[in-house]
Amino acid sequence: MPFFERILGIGKTKLDFKLLLDAIRDPFFICDLEETIIQTSPQLEEVFGFAQPILGQKVWKVFSGTDVPDAVRQVGSDAHKLDFGGERYFSLRVSRLRDPDDETRVLAVIVIFHDISDLKRADRVRIDFVANVSHELRTPLTSIKGYADTIAADLAAGQPVDAAFVGAIQRNADRLMDLVHDLLDLSALESHEALALEIVSTREITDRVVTGLRKNIEEKRQTLVVDLEVDSVRADPKRLEQVLVNLLDNACKYTPPERELRIVWEMGAGGGSSVLKVIDQGPGIPAEHHARLFERFYRVDRARSRELGGTGLGLAIVKHIVGRHGGSVWVESSVGQGSTFACRFPG
Ligand code: ADP
Repeated sequence: MPFFERILGIGKTKLDFKLLLDAIRDPFFICDLEETIIQTSPQLEEVFGFAQPILGQKVWKVFSGTDVPDAVRQVGSDAHKLDFGGERYFSLRVSRLRDPDDETRVLAVIVIFHDISDLKRADRVRIDFVANVSHELRTPLTSIKGYADTIAADLAAGQPVDAAFVGAIQRNADRLMDLVHDLLDLSALESHEALALEIVSTREITDRVVTGLRKNIEEKRQTLVVDLEVDSVRADPKRLEQVLVNLLDNACKYTPPERELRIVWEMGAGGGSSVLKVIDQGPGIPAEHHARLFERFYRVDRARSRELGGTGLGLAIVKHIVGRHGGSVWVESSVGQGSTFACRFPG
């Protein structure tokens, strides 16, 4: 391999070219000035899984329909993004390989692929999130503005203010406050605010949450059953309370009057963990929604959630909190059979 021996000076440095290739984790290839591929890294084949050997092939042929041929021609330019079909994105680094004995002489071009698919995905999540938040904020704001304008017009015309409009403004302002509160909470959880872990009594935490929501449960004449098979759990009490509030509030909200709600604390399968279950006799949730229920702003029935004052963030917060404790969340539900929301806490 005289080309590489000259470039790397193997004779002098005893560099093992094969080992060097293996050590570079990003896939790459080298082509000559006629754009024929003269070297590939082992990772290149692995990542792209070409149907035929690409050594000796032209770059434009192997990578047709992608940004690679253009990138090779614009040697020295910065990173290029490459949509290589599916959900894979790479940035490309293209550099000239020069003759060590004559720096003005370019011998070949090296193209290195750096996988940026994760970055791209994170970017998309962020963009979707901003769009969702804007939408969620705009709806109550539009109502507030509409009612405020109507009140102003009534006042200008010397007419009395309609109390219903003021009530609507208050309701929408409350919704905005709930939303901002939940958003700030999620962002605190994501910024890895430290948890204050301690041994929490399941009875105390359950009593506290039930007391807070008793009025809602009584208004719907629902029955609440509490089953404590586990005495304590290692958790951040404030965060744990929030988990239970969100789950019990949902159970109460989405379940029709006079049905039963159940809170169960039980040992996880195989011991070593505690499982909190909130079980209701509500409408149940079709299986196709289960995987996405814990995503921010995901709702089965958007109109119903709004009508009940939901922010669409409750379950996302639950998932984050339980995740921060090293646990997991899941739902068991089918239409007409009620729902069980479960959280496993380790230790
Ligand atoms: P929301 O503020 O809309 O209640 P959540 O994140 O708490 O937001 O819940 C997301 C969605 O999951 C809800 O909009 C609702 O469609 C569904 N959901 C949550 N809990 C229940 C439940 N106990 N029964 C039926 N549907 C539920």
